[in-house]
Amino acid sequence: MSELRKPHVVVVGGGFGGLQAVAKLRRAPVEVTLVDRRNFHLFQPLTYQVATGALSPGEIAYPLRAIFKRDGNVRVVLAEVSGFELDARELLLCSVSPVPVPERLGYDTLIVAGGSNYSYFGHEEWQMYAAEVKSLESALAVRSRLLAAFEAAEAEPNTDLRGAWLTFVVVGAGPTGVEMAGQIAELARDTLRRDFRTIDPRRARILLIEAADRVLTSFPPSLSAKAERSLQRLGVTVLKKRTVVGIDAAGVTLDSGDDRPERIASRAVVWAAGVTASGLAGRLAELSGAERDRVGRVTVQSDLTLRGHPEVFAIGDMVRVRDVNGEPVVLPGVAPVAMQQGRYAAQVIRARLREREYGAFRYRDKGNLATIGRAAAVADIKGVRLSGFLAWATWLVVHLWYLIGFQNRLLVLIRWSVSFVTHGRGARLITGASTAGDERGG
Ligand SMILES: Cc1cc2nc3c(=O)[nH]c(=O)nc-3n(C[C@H](O)[C@H](O)[C@H](O)COP(=O)(O)OP(=O)(O)OC[C@H]3O[C@@H](n4cnc5c(N)ncnc54)[C@H](O)[C@@H]3O)c2cc1C
Repeated sequence: MSELRKPHVVVVGGGFGGLQAVAKLRRAPVEVTLVDRRNFHLFQPLTYQVATGALSPGEIAYPLRAIFKRDGNVRVVLAEVSGFELDARELLLCSVSPVPVPERLGYDTLIVAGGSNYSYFGHEEWQMYAAEVKSLESALAVRSRLLAAFEAAEAEPNTDLRGAWLTFVVVGAGPTGVEMAGQIAELARDTLRRDFRTIDPRRARILLIEAADRVLTSFPPSLSAKAERSLQRLGVTVLKKRTVVGIDAAGVTLDSGDDRPERIASRAVVWAAGVTASGLAGRLAELSGAERDRVGRVTVQSDLTLRGHPEVFAIGDMVRVRDVNGEPVVLPGVAPVAMQQGRYAAQVIRARLREREYGAFRYRDKGNLATIGRAAAVADIKGVRLSGFLAWATWLVVHLWYLIGFQNRLLVLIRWSVSFVTHGRGARLITGASTAGDERGG
């Protein structure tokens, strides 16, 4: 007797959303194929710790094959998705060199969770001077650039140039910018303070630039004020109501509304402002006629499917969702939204297999957390506002809890404990062929 073919669910993206969708389908009567252009899941909330030498890459990333090694119905494919043939129900694939892949992959149901990228507000040329910390590769580039800046300052006889090497600029005071600025300050004031002979790393200037009138605008104003005070205690200068209008090899130009632009000489700029949805959102919108918002998010129905294509779900950072009244709603670009949407899409697929209806997606907001530095954080959990050590301890537990892999949890816990006691950072390595000097041609 021939067995009936099981429905084939293809999930694009092994980030927070895609991973949850696959996990929820691991024992369902379906065949699942997870396609990602990376062979690992990256815990993006901690990439800034890799960028500042507090953690090593392997501690915040986990191989996708290892996550699903016991799940016989899950197959992992290393490939880049370049497009969709929605009517034919096929994905178009590109090879991640040197791994050969078929050009097309068919599906019965598709879940697309391609995430987002940083946007440079139409100034892509800024990226070469102001790296971001979204991917592991860029976090490592930032780590090299920050550490190389201290080395360059130590070797630089000219006082002005030395000052520029010791001026660190972080653009954008959202959670990532605040965390980066706090970590650079701790690196300079604490970790490196005895490492150099000519320079005093404690004299480094760390500037955090924000266009709004407060840091952490997604938090209540009282917590923004507390976060700003914590940053100041760490030695970070917060420059609010400033818009970046230029970034080049020698520094950053700011517009503060006056006639004269403000110029800051700096050789180490980190970008933590602005996001744009994955290009996959744009492709889905073009093919289905769904709307896109100004940052490229495709609008999905209240059950997270694409208009006219109930077999295609899109989730996570790359979408905005219509509420039950049909109005598009932008949910926060955070991991819990993507995770809940991933689980929801899998539950709808399971319900359909049983020919049952499933209600609209509803986001359950469990709160907002941001850390600033050692024993300093802010938390807004269902209206309960915490700051200081308690918020920091909450942040620590939450991040350890969601980190994938028991070994990683243990390693990160040990690392954090050692760093807390010694003020050290074990991963202060300048890696890659190019240091900051090479990249700037200087
Ligand atoms: C630096 C940083 C810090 C953050 N900190 C926090 C935090 O503290 N708390 C919090 O809740 N959220 C945080 N976020 C946001 C959170 O990481 C995102 O909201 C979440 O990752 C979104 O999940 P996703 O599944 O939509 O996308 P992602 O997790 O980004 O996953 C997308 C996946 O798709 C893959 N992919 C993309 N395009 C293709 C393609 N064409 N072909 C194949 N594969 C593809 C990528 O390789 C990736 O694995 C942070 C984000 C950043 C960048």
